[in-house]
Amino acid sequence: MLFVMLPFLVFAAFLLYQASRKIDCPDCGAPLPTLMSPLRKTRRIWRDGGYLCARCGCETDVAGK
Ligand SMILES: [Zn+2]
Repeated sequence: MLFVMLPFLVFAAFLLYQASRKIDCPDCGAPLPTLMSPLRKTRRIWRDGGYLCARCGCETDVAGK
């Protein structure tokens, strides 16, 4: 049973890790959303990772630059 649950636990841990990293937008200073709709992600964000600012639309990499 535990073996079956393992991928879900890893996924949950990954989400917690992502949510614990608070990164502000370099442009407007608004906190970047750690979880966002897959439909809003650009191709570059899918490939390299990164965030899209909800306030000004600024696109950053994983380090928030
Ligand atoms: Zn912004």
